[in-house]
Amino acid sequence: MRFVSTRGQCPPVTADKALRAGLAPDGGLYVPEQLPLIDEAKTFGPSGLGEIGSLLLAPYFKDSMLENVIEQICADAFNFPTPLISLPSGPQVLELFHGPTGAFKDFGARFLFRAFDHIADQRDPITVLAATSGDTGGAVGCAAEGALNAKAVILFPKDRISAFQERQLCCWHEPVTALRVKGDFDACQALVKQAFSNSELSRQFGLTSANSISIGRLLPQMSYWATAAIDAKAQTGKAPGLIIPTGNLGNAVAAIMARKMGLPIGPVVLATNANPTLSEWKDRGAYQARPAIATLANAMDVGAPSNFERLAHIDPSGIDAVIRVEDDAIQARIRQTHSDDAYIACPHTATGLEAYARLPSAHRQQRSWIIGATAHPYKFADIVEPLIGETIKPTPALANVLERETRVTDIEATLEDLTSYLMATGAAGRVSV
Ligand SMILES: *Cc1c(COP(=O)(O)O)cnc(C)c1O
Repeated sequence: MRFVSTRGQCPPVTADKALRAGLAPDGGLYVPEQLPLIDEAKTFGPSGLGEIGSLLLAPYFKDSMLENVIEQICADAFNFPTPLISLPSGPQVLELFHGPTGAFKDFGARFLFRAFDHIADQRDPITVLAATSGDTGGAVGCAAEGALNAKAVILFPKDRISAFQERQLCCWHEPVTALRVKGDFDACQALVKQAFSNSELSRQFGLTSANSISIGRLLPQMSYWATAAIDAKAQTGKAPGLIIPTGNLGNAVAAIMARKMGLPIGPVVLATNANPTLSEWKDRGAYQARPAIATLANAMDVGAPSNFERLAHIDPSGIDAVIRVEDDAIQARIRQTHSDDAYIACPHTATGLEAYARLPSAHRQQRSWIIGATAHPYKFADIVEPLIGETIKPTPALANVLERETRVTDIEATLEDLTSYLMATGAAGRVSV
């Protein structure tokens, strides 16, 4: 299987190259040349996320260095449950937050790092540079722990993120390092960009990113939509609708791809926060990126969804509706779900629950609906606890984060500082001769 750029201005590459590259050289995003069809009958045999994941992913890694290890990578990466919970008020909630860092980012990050560890070797290393304060940074750090050939360097702005967020970026062991940058979030991102555009540095350390445009994060995310859809269809005889809380459209494109591969997925509805880019696109038929607006569902504060180009390439009419949920409606929905369903939702999940409530009732009754629960509410306790008047308990995995020791290095927001840090820690496996 080969991967092509959405812009079509560069040659097709193998999965290994597409994973390593992140962005395609023409500025586009890599997409599979075709989406292989999976015979639905084949999905009756395997059970569980690991087996269904490897059934779906195997065709994409044919002729790749990963061809013979996909099964093992899936079994190892997806080793936590994804419960599908029926709420008394009608919808089902697919809990994607039982991984080690409490958000669905664990699926993509765990798969990607295991893949990187196979693709890289001591002479040809991979160093993931990640500038993020959100769920991705923690998931990447955790996924990288113990890797042999791939390393992670996480940059975050000093004094700009919550104590728990900082902890979740700084608590991972080798080969993970956390750099606290004197500057704001934009300074961290600019620094990472500078490093990537320095070809000597990029080559020497095998720099790459693990952001939401990575096809290696997107492909594994098909697994849980597929598994949940197969289970729901077995229960009801009908393909379920999906409601997906959305920011950069990674989760949504993964669901659309799974449907194109033949999985029993009905309509796909996007739930966004107040950021209007996607709802305007759906209403007016024209896409216009906008500056991001800060909201309570901050992992979805995106004005220019990075996977839009992929959606437009793969299935431009694949989204049935986009429902935009403002902060006051997020708060009201968290309260109501707590009182009606005795369920505690994070602000992102709440956009999905609110979108469900706003569907025409005929649509709700036509089929079962699955809402992606993208993060554990404990991660957003400062927002959720005052609304429900209850203390939220962390999952055992999140409690473990609180107990770990943290390590961090302070640097200035300059390429000199970043470079000398990379040199000093020997993050480079490639020796210059
Ligand atoms: C990343 C994230 C989202 C948005 O996911 P996309 O794939 O970027 O659309 C939603 N909720 C949470 C909790 C997240 O961490």
